[in-house]
Amino acid sequence: MSIFSDPAFDNHEQVVFASDRETGLKAIIAVHNTHLGPSLGGCRMWPYASEQDAIHDVLRLSRGMTYKSALVNLPLGGGKSVIIGDPRTQKTPELFRAVGRAVERLNGRYIVAEDVGTSPADMAEIARQTHHVGGINDGKDPARTGDPSPFTAYGVFIGLKEAVKHKTGNDDLKDMRVAVQGLGNVGFHLCELLHNAGAELIVADINASAVDRAVDRFGAKAVSVDEILSVNADVLAPCALGGIINDTSIASLKAGIIAGAANNQLEADRHGDILREMGVLYAPDYVINAGGVVEVHYCREGRPVSETNRHIEGIGATVREIFERADRENKSTSFIADRLAEERFGKKA
Ligand code: NAD
Repeated sequence: MSIFSDPAFDNHEQVVFASDRETGLKAIIAVHNTHLGPSLGGCRMWPYASEQDAIHDVLRLSRGMTYKSALVNLPLGGGKSVIIGDPRTQKTPELFRAVGRAVERLNGRYIVAEDVGTSPADMAEIARQTHHVGGINDGKDPARTGDPSPFTAYGVFIGLKEAVKHKTGNDDLKDMRVAVQGLGNVGFHLCELLHNAGAELIVADINASAVDRAVDRFGAKAVSVDEILSVNADVLAPCALGGIINDTSIASLKAGIIAGAANNQLEADRHGDILREMGVLYAPDYVINAGGVVEVHYCREGRPVSETNRHIEGIGATVREIFERADRENKSTSFIADRLAEERFGKKA
């Protein structure tokens, strides 16, 4: 089993293997970098095929959080945790209390939040053992539901508008055709914002009822999941899966802009270079989908949603800086985003 030589290890400050005999907990907490502040990242529960897969996943995800928090200007570093187990059958309150104790032992170097396979109820159990937990809604601000997705969608909307402005000279979305892949928590909220701004929507989802809802509510045009990436549109907003920009899909893209919520949209770094050569403007995913983590931070600090939204609006300036620098240096936007993040969190070469 390799840990230090895993490409995602990348000088992690600390990796903790946490176990608990009573509950059978097997978890890994990875703290990638705390130069800008305590590390924050979700706790994922997943039935990993192997312990190596779990290690690779937690290292990759925690490293990603360092870059995301640095570029969205939060006083936070990057961390993540994974529980090896099936969230449908192996969850117990005691298990999450054991996670809480493991987090507490890190003395605030890691702040845990919700992720795939964990819920607000799980965070409430963790909170019985540690204060170092995000995503607990105290109910004081009625605009706060505890769901970060609308905030993620808002950040994507801000980033998408900035991309349109960079490409066309103004950020008016009226009659712009936006193809949205995936109408889940983020994609649907994004559709609402785009519709209200006058955009024409083209949508696809494997879930037919989500598609019907978007057609009814926003007058969206439905296409099949096989067609959505290559439809005639001004903007493609991937809000479903990672790796969708790959050797197979890239040649058939017709949109001049890619700006969506899905994590790791580029299958490999070189796809960022190819997009640049094709004249397609790519708004790096982790930069524009950071609204959710901003909300987790503000919620934890007890600050109002209005402040979350103001902070998220700053994503526009960051994306602009990335686009302008990518043009000046003739590099891909994804390359520039990584360099800018590293400058901010002080990565040593
Ligand atoms: P979700 O599970 O609610 O929605 C995903 C949607 O994509 C579902 O409706 C699903 O049916 C659809 N889908 C799956 N496969 C598809 C396919 N092949 N073609 C078309 N549609 C397909 O997830 P979400 O919370 O909306 O997140 C969407 C993306 O954004 C994910 O990649 C997630 O990692 C990323 N993201 C989400 C947040 C957040 O706050 N929720 C934050 C950052 C990044």
